[in-house]
Amino acid sequence: MESMKHRSLELLEDFIRIQSVNPHYKEGARGEGELANYIEGICKQKGLKVTRQEVFPGRDNLIIELRTGRPDKTLLFEAHMDTVSLGSMVDPLVPTYKGDRLYGRGACDTKGTLSGMLYALEECAKQPELLHCDLVLCAAVDEEHAYRGLMALIDLDLPISGAVVGEPTEMGIVGSHKGCVRFAIHTHGKAAHSSMPEEGDNAIYQMMQVIRYINEEMEPQLAKRSHPLCGTATIVVGMIQGGKQINIVPEMCTIEVDRRIIPGEDPFEVFEEIQRDLKEAMQHKKVNYTVEPLLLDWALNTPEESAVVHTAQEVCRQLGLQDAICGVPYGSDASKLQQLKGIPTIVFGPGSIAQAHSKEEWVPVVEVEQAAEFYLKLAQNYGKSNA
Ligand SMILES: [Zn+2]
Repeated sequence: MESMKHRSLELLEDFIRIQSVNPHYKEGARGEGELANYIEGICKQKGLKVTRQEVFPGRDNLIIELRTGRPDKTLLFEAHMDTVSLGSMVDPLVPTYKGDRLYGRGACDTKGTLSGMLYALEECAKQPELLHCDLVLCAAVDEEHAYRGLMALIDLDLPISGAVVGEPTEMGIVGSHKGCVRFAIHTHGKAAHSSMPEEGDNAIYQMMQVIRYINEEMEPQLAKRSHPLCGTATIVVGMIQGGKQINIVPEMCTIEVDRRIIPGEDPFEVFEEIQRDLKEAMQHKKVNYTVEPLLLDWALNTPEESAVVHTAQEVCRQLGLQDAICGVPYGSDASKLQQLKGIPTIVFGPGSIAQAHSKEEWVPVVEVEQAAEFYLKLAQNYGKSNA
């Protein structure tokens, strides 16, 4: 029976056995080094060219190339090697089949996609003459923390004409997703003893005005901005902190706010818009505040007429999979490739985001196999129609 197993599952089992927890999670995290060595070894056996790109000491992106002399048509596969912490998963490093599922840390996010993409390159390396494009696979570091691996890849400025980012999409072709603008607002008051509040200026009361404005004015306005595949723009006050002691009028209060942007919105413009609106709303109120940006991330908005989208749809039809273009509310590396480099990018992979990061991480076995065949066929068909 062993010989019947799809190659992508063999690879995935090995990937799960190699711990590659992002060092950001501390506690025994080993980082991506060992997995990178393992993948590099396989690629060398198969005659694929591998380049290491150091992102942090001991933490390299692997850039695996299969060149066929068509650099103007280069298809990029990208998937990250790191995982979140092992957490309370039972046997996180032991690939375990139960029914039609394969369990293990990273099975779904995102070693399942990485194994399928590597399988596609292995197969293509056997018959490169079948390709109509150059192929590059980037096995990246640090997606689960600060995206440094992907940003380093972008800095290389490789000519890439289409890209697939591997994340669990339940086998849907994701062409759009939301981005975010996260920021803090601080209100500044004046401390006084609470027996003489008239001597002070209460920063928490000031913040009440800000929060009321966000909740009662901004929220309903944003609910009117919507994208057909991703839903509406939203804003949430997720954290609040203020005051020092029960008997002191607070001089500081801080909130942290998460604004989700939809495709078509620019995070930098949105951040400016928020500051403008707040300024106008607060101008006749006695609110002394400052705004501090925390994280600005792009939404994904890949044109449906892009070659990578068309080819992906065609391949899905050939494999009997859904060919609809989907939108999702969560973010991924894809938006940076598309917005910063203008590379038409889709997200595609086996498993569901609901199982990513969970204490019961698993991926449907059949989806791992199908995704691997999808990546292979995509590689073989990309560049064909407009050759
Ligand atoms: Zn992921």
